[in-house]
Amino acid sequence: MSDQAEQKESTINSAAELEKVADEVRLCRECDLGSLRTNAVPGEGHPNARIMFVGEAPGADEDAQGRPFIGRAGKLLDKIITACGLKRSDVFIGNILKCRPPENRDPRAEEIVNCFPYLQKQIEIINPEIIVALGAPAAKTLLNTNKSIGQLRGQFHEYYPGLGRAPIKLMPTYHTAYLLRNYSTENRQRVWEDMKKVLTELGLPIPERDKK
Ligand code: URA
Repeated sequence: MSDQAEQKESTINSAAELEKVADEVRLCRECDLGSLRTNAVPGEGHPNARIMFVGEAPGADEDAQGRPFIGRAGKLLDKIITACGLKRSDVFIGNILKCRPPENRDPRAEEIVNCFPYLQKQIEIINPEIIVALGAPAAKTLLNTNKSIGQLRGQFHEYYPGLGRAPIKLMPTYHTAYLLRNYSTENRQRVWEDMKKVLTELGLPIPERDKK
C-alpha cells in the first residue's frame, strides 16, 4: 500500500473510532451535567490532526449546537488558527468537560474525573504531535499539576498517554476567553509566542502577523 493510501485508511479508521467515542459522550450520564445539557460537545476536527487544542468546557453557544469553540472565544481561536496558516479542519478541538457546567461555573473535580477518560481516548486515537492546552483547567488536568497557567505557559511540557506510549509535547497557553477579557498587546503577544513555538516544533512556516 502506498504511504498516501495508508494515511487515508488510518484517517478513516480514526474517524470511525472518534465517532464511537462521540456516541458514548452523547449518551453519558456519569454526572449531573448529563441531565442539564442541551447537547454534549464531544469535540471535532481532523481525525489524525498534528495539533490538538483542548479547552475547559462548552459554553452556552456550544451547548446549543453540540460543537466546540463556536462562540466568542471560539471565533478568537479561529483567528489564532488562521494566523498560524492553518484551517480549523486541520486541527482537532476538544474540551476537558464534554457538557456545559451551569452558568459556566468552573468544572468540579468529580466531573473532571468522570469526563477525562473520553479525552484520553480521543488523544489516543488522534495521537497528535502537539497538544495546546487552553487555560488553567486544561493544562492542570493534562499535566496533573497545580501550577498556574502563568507558570506553565511559554514552554513545552509532556503529556503521558499511558504505558508503552510515547509522551506528547504539550504547550499551555492562555484560554481565548481569558484573552478576550484581558485583550492587551502583551497577552496577545504571549499567545502568539506560544503558537510560534508550536509551529517551529512541527517544522511549519511562521506566517507574517497581520497587525490588528
Ligand atoms: N470555552 C471552552 O473552554 N470550550 C468551548 O468549547 C468553548 C468555550
